[in-house]
Amino acid sequence: MSEKEGSLFEESLKPLRRAATILKLEPDVVDVLSSHERILIVSIPVKMDNGKVKVFTGYRAQHNTARGPAKGGTRYHSGVCLDEIKSLSFWMSIKNAVVGIPYGGGKGGITCNPKEMSVGELERLTRGYAAQIARSIGVDKDIPAPDVNTTAQIMGWIADEYYKVTGEIVPGVITSKALSIGGSRGRGKATGRGGFFTTLEAVKVLNLPLKGARVSIQGWGNAAQPIAQYLHEMGAKIVAVSDSAAGVYNADGMNPMALTEHKTKTKSVKGFPGAKAVSTVDPITVDCDIFIPAALETQITEKNADKVKAKLVVELANGPTTPEADKILHEKGIFVAPDVLANAGGVTVSYFEWVQNRMGYYWSEEEVDEKLKRVMGEAFKDVYQSYKQYKIEMRTAAYVTAVQRIVDAMRALGRI
Ligand code: GLU
Repeated sequence: MSEKEGSLFEESLKPLRRAATILKLEPDVVDVLSSHERILIVSIPVKMDNGKVKVFTGYRAQHNTARGPAKGGTRYHSGVCLDEIKSLSFWMSIKNAVVGIPYGGGKGGITCNPKEMSVGELERLTRGYAAQIARSIGVDKDIPAPDVNTTAQIMGWIADEYYKVTGEIVPGVITSKALSIGGSRGRGKATGRGGFFTTLEAVKVLNLPLKGARVSIQGWGNAAQPIAQYLHEMGAKIVAVSDSAAGVYNADGMNPMALTEHKTKTKSVKGFPGAKAVSTVDPITVDCDIFIPAALETQITEKNADKVKAKLVVELANGPTTPEADKILHEKGIFVAPDVLANAGGVTVSYFEWVQNRMGYYWSEEEVDEKLKRVMGEAFKDVYQSYKQYKIEMRTAAYVTAVQRIVDAMRALGRI
């Protein structure tokens, strides 16, 4: 394992240890929370379009299931490795507990570059992966969903393979599916919508008017596009955005729908009319009021944290801020709505999808939206209360809230 591979999970345990000190948890309890219940590593041979077989590596990790079945997305990216999947599944345990949905934490992924693969190759890879993990997932065991570079179509292939392997048509085995096979209304934009609700709560406590607020976003995917649209509708100005290829900046603000149209046409935000070209990391440090990391982990580090100018950081990505950077932001008085709170809208609507699948009865978009708003609002209040009570950063406050709930569940089961 390279040094980078060995470090992310270790780093991600730091807020857990801080929360454990505040909650006065015994070291053996921290040991249990620092360990994964189960990790499956599979190799997936795929017949590529050129006739050759290529072997890919896939993962599915179940971190802790005391509060319910494991739940979390599936990532397709060249950077996927055991260490990353361990961190992501651990964060899902925390996230699901922060918003109080009845799940433990899980996550999966495949080390691949889907942008270089044909649709056929992607389908064969996905079906191979699904067949390999079929016995360890299940509606009451572990429920996958999308994450970076995975789509409703990919969820459909996994569902289909699961149905074939098990002979059971159980739509709740996977979430963020197409509506035609049991998806939920509102799931596609749920991470952005949930982040928007968190932002509304945060600007209230900060007394920061949204009208005219300058917003900078790193990332222009499923989470970034809807939150940008909602903030734009509230009168905020989207001054900078980036994707994996390029960044653009315009102090007068950019129209999110036009940005998305441009990206759909040209595959990148690069060259957006009227905007200045910047780097993919410039949105982190540009002059703005709200910064939204919505790309990958480890973006705000000790190297750039002191250059962050925003008053509020809303983390839509998982793990965008390192613990050292977190400390710097806190010392600078920047309010951070942490990932495990701010990006929980996605998994929350996944939960609603699972509930609807189990009832076989489906809600309107308004019902989903109203329920999401309530869950996100309550989670913010719970975390903010710990933040005030213990005078700690919002991230530690979120961990205090979540860890207490997981520990209560482990105690009730007699596991600790
Ligand atoms: N991948 C998303 C996350 O990190 C959603 C997970 C889900 O819906 O299960 O929260």
